[in-house]
Amino acid sequence: MQWQQEVSLKTLNTFGFESVAQRFVELKSNDDVIAVAQEVEECPQPLLILGGGSNLILAPRIPGVVAKMAMTGREVDQVSDDEVLVTFGAGENWHQVVAWLLENGFFGAENLALIPGVVGSAPVQNIGAYGVEIKDLLESVEAYDREYGEFVRLDKAECEFDYRDSRFKRVPERYIITRVQLRLSRVPTLKLDYAGLRSAVSETPTPQEVFDAVCRIRREKLPDPAVLGNAGSFFKNPVIDEQRFEALKLQFPDLVSYPDKDGVKLAAGWLIDRAGFKGVRRDGVGIHDRQALVLINTGTGTMGELARLAGEVQRAIKQMFGITLEPEPRFYP
Ligand code: FAD
Ligand code: NAP
Repeated sequence: MQWQQEVSLKTLNTFGFESVAQRFVELKSNDDVIAVAQEVEECPQPLLILGGGSNLILAPRIPGVVAKMAMTGREVDQVSDDEVLVTFGAGENWHQVVAWLLENGFFGAENLALIPGVVGSAPVQNIGAYGVEIKDLLESVEAYDREYGEFVRLDKAECEFDYRDSRFKRVPERYIITRVQLRLSRVPTLKLDYAGLRSAVSETPTPQEVFDAVCRIRREKLPDPAVLGNAGSFFKNPVIDEQRFEALKLQFPDLVSYPDKDGVKLAAGWLIDRAGFKGVRRDGVGIHDRQALVLINTGTGTMGELARLAGEVQRAIKQMFGITLEPEPRFYP
């Protein structure tokens, strides 16, 4: 293990913010994970587990240790003629994993193509897109439990998944995820009911066609973090009860909404657009011209500037619609 001091994280977070880690190390094995956990236990200091940095907003200086997850590995277990279990090291690139599953005829992850980041972070916010969430595929998670100092295996129920949420997000310092096991089907079952997806494929699409369509739509709509710093959707879509929805709908007849298990889900991007924020610029940050849910770094942005803009948006949405928007990425520290 190679410990480094004062390491720049500018290229390791998709906002591209200037940020320096006091100490930095890569995790390539279970032994590395134990060593880092023991180090911060014996000499108490903060520990940030870093994946691809695509759901994090970093301060200019990160105290303590930043440990970049770099564990690799792909293992296939045949469980029946129709299903396989595949276990991935937490440092494997998520999109490459989705493409590899498809190449091998293991289906179910196509809608989750082109989501940045690594496998170990995917359960943290229960990544989701186009009507599929990782919880739909997840069998179990292997993690180092810092509270008890041991490796544990959590099944799906123990991960307590919810909309862009999980046990790992709610207690962010406790678990270091090392491996993720997915259950895939050899028989394609396509999910095409999301806005724009069905019309982007043929009448009898293959999983490859769905994968290609998802990649195409995402490339058209979303800014590439390599060109324009961002962390994808900045706010979660709010869910409100039927009564409040009916009242809002009277006031805003073109309100974009979807049925949800807990009430009615509103498209946060629509609310922000309607409040007039699409394309605005404040200092070194702004809101994307094509997708109002995406906050961007226009080049010189900082966490402080982004927090101010996010606050301005939240206050405006609260005033106009009476709705509280909750940020999706984590501000650190
Ligand atoms: P990071 O940002 O590095 O980390 C995120 C959090 O997980 C941090 O709190 C970190 O400490 C923790 N963490 C990371 N690894 C571990 C580990 N091994 N053990 C414990 N904790 C860990 N998200 C979606 O859900 N759907 C989308 O469609 C989507 N599209 C996106 C599009 C763009 C252009 C961008 C920039 C982001 C998008 N995101 C999307 C958000 C983001 O890509 C996902 O949340 C992704 O899973 C984050 O992965 P990461 O490796 O970059 O995590
Ligand atoms: P979109 O297709 O323009 O749709 C806007 C919103 O409406 C989405 O946020 C989505 O909610 C919701 N929606 C659309 N069709 C729906 C349906 N049939 N049933 C229920 N909800 C529906 O959104 P987009 O921005 O281009 O994103 C497309 C997909 O990629 C979405 O699933 C989105 O979550 C995902 N994505 C996520 C991020 C991120 O950082 N989290 C970034 C980019 C894209 P949901 O968000 O709840 O799915």
